[in-house]
Amino acid sequence: MSILHATTGVDLDDTEVGYLYRSTRDLRLAHALFQALRYGTLVKAANNIGSLGLRIGLPIKGLLRQTLGRLFLGGESLEETLSVLKKLAANGVSVMLDYAVEASHHSEERTKTFQEYLRMIDFAQKHRDMVSFIAVKLTGLASPIFWEKRSQTKALPSHLVREEQQFHERFTQLVETAKQRGIPLMVDAEESWLQPAIDEVVEDYMQRYNTDQVILYTTVQMYRRDRLDYLRRLLDRGYKVGVKLVRGAYVEKERKRAQLYGYPDPIHPTKAATDIAYDQALMLCLERIDQVALCVATHNRNSCMKAVQYALLQGWQPNHPSLSFSQLYGMADPISFGLAKAGFRVAKYVPYGPIEKAFPYLSRRAEENSSLSDQSGRELRWVAAELQRRRSLIHSKPT
Ligand SMILES: Cc1cc2nc3c(=O)[nH]c(=O)nc-3n(C[C@H](O)[C@H](O)[C@H](O)COP(=O)(O)OP(=O)(O)OC[C@H]3O[C@@H](n4cnc5c(N)ncnc54)[C@H](O)[C@@H]3O)c2cc1C
Repeated sequence: MSILHATTGVDLDDTEVGYLYRSTRDLRLAHALFQALRYGTLVKAANNIGSLGLRIGLPIKGLLRQTLGRLFLGGESLEETLSVLKKLAANGVSVMLDYAVEASHHSEERTKTFQEYLRMIDFAQKHRDMVSFIAVKLTGLASPIFWEKRSQTKALPSHLVREEQQFHERFTQLVETAKQRGIPLMVDAEESWLQPAIDEVVEDYMQRYNTDQVILYTTVQMYRRDRLDYLRRLLDRGYKVGVKLVRGAYVEKERKRAQLYGYPDPIHPTKAATDIAYDQALMLCLERIDQVALCVATHNRNSCMKAVQYALLQGWQPNHPSLSFSQLYGMADPISFGLAKAGFRVAKYVPYGPIEKAFPYLSRRAEENSSLSDQSGRELRWVAAELQRRRSLIHSKPT
């Protein structure tokens, strides 16, 4: 038993609790996959082959569906997620639904994404007991080119001015519908060169719509050196803010671009520096909980435990209305279900969508679990421990 477990009574390593909803067959698949994913260079190569294969129409969808898709996707359509939602709900965990398509470069794709977001709000209202949040990508509602240009200048070419108008019409409709139905939206954070314009929009809408209830959350990436100051300024704005706190998903991409264009690397130099920044941001939000609705979105056990310790020391009920946790579907289950068992609010981030469209999401998960990252080994150890525990149960049964 760890010291934190002993002092808080909250166990974030209990694989029996964590994998109650997973069959042994699924766990064996997870074990084989996490083992394969440890070969970093292989994962990179497989990702490249996978993306090329899908583009040129190789018959690899079935394989993807049965492997990465089965582990990390809630289904290929909204309706298909229901069985996952029910399994999670049966164990005290709700969901943050995510339509797992990446940035939309074409107008028709953006229209489809917008319509899907409206459908998600409807669906979430119908299944309010199982769905807590909806994740929204603003690059799905306006093109990355628009966000990049908007982040650099006020003067846009006329086609982007039209795109901006359409974006605002649609985003207003989404936020107003979400507010009427009481379903909070969480806006994902993107690459740093798109983020200034996204921040501006989300702050504006939070100020207008987070009145009686926090209906809109922004995402703050603590791997960025400038984000602690940003968060401080955000919390001083005087209106209620929703914050999803993450470390950040684009380390390599950010560093490469900074090098290419010769500007200072916006990312902390080390993982340890990112961890310190994350925990400082966490404390800042917890200390200002009257001002912020916080979603602790991380697979990092220490950060989760810091939030748990703080909440318990303050004498809060674990299900404090302004505090929730979130981990990605298919990852860190002992943390999610351990927190839920202790009474904390947990929403698993459940992506869904056609397998070929969700491929970039799946490939990011593969890389995150490869030897190139810290997550490597962590999932494997948990899954191996649970399989071992289930095997020993069979062997210890009296004959
Ligand atoms: C519910 C949920 C929603 C998410 N939404 C978003 C989102 O909107 N936008 C987004 O960008 N990401 C998002 N992520 C992904 C997140 O940013 C992380 O990539 C992922 O969760 C791993 O970080 P961690 O805190 O879980 O765990 P850890 O494994 O403790 O940390 C890994 C992270 O540390 C950082 N890191 C690793 N090595 C270095 C290094 N050498 N130098 C500096 N930093 C380093 C990176 O951010 C890396 O992802 C989300 C994650 C979750 C769980």
